[in-house]
Parts: sequence; structure tokens; C-alpha cells
Amino acid sequence: MTDIAEIIKNNIIEVRRKIENAAIKAGRDPGEITLVAVTKTALPEMVAAAANNGIKDFAENRVQELTKKLALTGDSCRWHMIGHLQTNKIKQVLGKVRLIHSVDSIELAEAIQKRAEALDIYADILIEVNVSGEETKFGVSKDALMFLIENASRLKNVNVRGLMTIAPYTESSESVRPIFRMLRQLSLDIGSEKIDNVHMDILSMGMSNDFETAIEEGSNLIRIGRSIFNKNI
Ligand SMILES: *Cc1c(COP(=O)(O)O)cnc(C)c1O
Repeated sequence: MTDIAEIIKNNIIEVRRKIENAAIKAGRDPGEITLVAVTKTALPEMVAAAANNGIKDFAENRVQELTKKLALTGDSCRWHMIGHLQTNKIKQVLGKVRLIHSVDSIELAEAIQKRAEALDIYADILIEVNVSGEETKFGVSKDALMFLIENASRLKNVNVRGLMTIAPYTESSESVRPIFRMLRQLSLDIGSEKIDNVHMDILSMGMSNDFETAIEEGSNLIRIGRSIFNKNI
């Protein structure tokens, strides 16, 4: 085993230990939390090392990188699209990814529908919510969320599986706790409305600097890049 592979193995062990502790602290089953490894800074050998150390879910925020890295992992691994998706790139990812986390407009959802229908497949998506209202970020505002969900629910080949958010970068994850709490509440509220094609079973929140807080607030999918691929390297 190369040094890099050894470091990544240990980084994954460390992240899993923290997931377990955060879940137990919150009275949750650690097994219900999916760890997704975000490979945007990872070299091919690092992606392979993660796959060899039990990572089953991988993510990219750029289509070009995603299509390049897909081949690095075996058939038992799934890929997620977590970055802003342009409508003209949908055909490059649809049918290849397990989940698109970053749907934030009805135009994008409709374009996914069109492509999914042509391929005769169903596309699982999350709606990306800009909870904090930061101007620079993608994501639908809280106020526009319900309108988007209701319209997306009419798209036959699109299944809304939950919500995703990116919290503002912070050194103290305590300050983003209200954002995670808000996303979970939105998810519960929408789920209770029992809308066709809308199932709020996935809550994608938490990154390297805030995932323990996100787990305490109900996340069941965390997206981790730096703590796996950059730490100690
Ligand atoms: C890069 C990225 C991550 C991972 O962030 P880290 O801080 O490296 O853990 C998670 N989600 C999205 C959408 C990203 O772009």
C-alpha cells in the first residue's frame, strides 16, 4: 500500500468514528447516515484508495470531472452530482448518477424530466435550498421552495427525494446549526403534505467542517471532501 492510500484509509476511519460519535450523541443509529466522498481535489489513486476502504458513494461538483472519475470506481459504487448543473450537461450525467443534489429551478427539473423520459428512466433529485440567503450561492430560497416542489411533483420521471444545503463556511460549526435545523424542519413540513413524487427521505447536509453538527440536526447524507482527501497529505 502506498503512503497516500494509508493516509486516506486512516482519514476515513477518523471520519467514520466522528460520524458514529455524533450519531450516538444525538441518539441516532450511525448506520442511517451515508458518507459520500467528494473527490473534487482527489487524484485518481486517491479515489481508488477510498473505494478500496469501503466508500460506496462518491460525488463531484463538475460534470467533466464526474464523467472522468466514474471509471475509477467499480460497479458497486454510486456517484452523486452535487454542483450547479447546466441544462445542456444533463445528458452527460443522467443514467450515470445515483442522485442529483443540486436542482434549484423548475427549468432544470423540467430539462431533467425531458431527458429522463427520452431514456425511459426515473431520475432521483434533491432540491438545493439556500437557507441562509447568501447572495453568491446557488439554491432556491426558502420562499420559493414550495412552488418549485409543487411544480417538480408533476414531472413523471423525476422523483424528489429530499433537500440539500451548503452552509456558509465557518470555523465554528455551532453558528450554522440554525441552518441545518431549518432545513430539517422544511423537510418535515414538506414531507407531511404527502405530495405525489415527493418523498423527503434524504437530507443532504454537512461537509468537513460542520458534519457533526449536521448529524446532530438530522442529516442522513454528509458530503466530505477535505477530511478524506486533503488531511495529512
Ligand atoms: C466541495 C464540496 C463538498 C465537500 O466539502 P469539504 O469541505 O471538502 O468537505 C460538499 N458539498 C459540495 C456541494 C461541495 O462542492
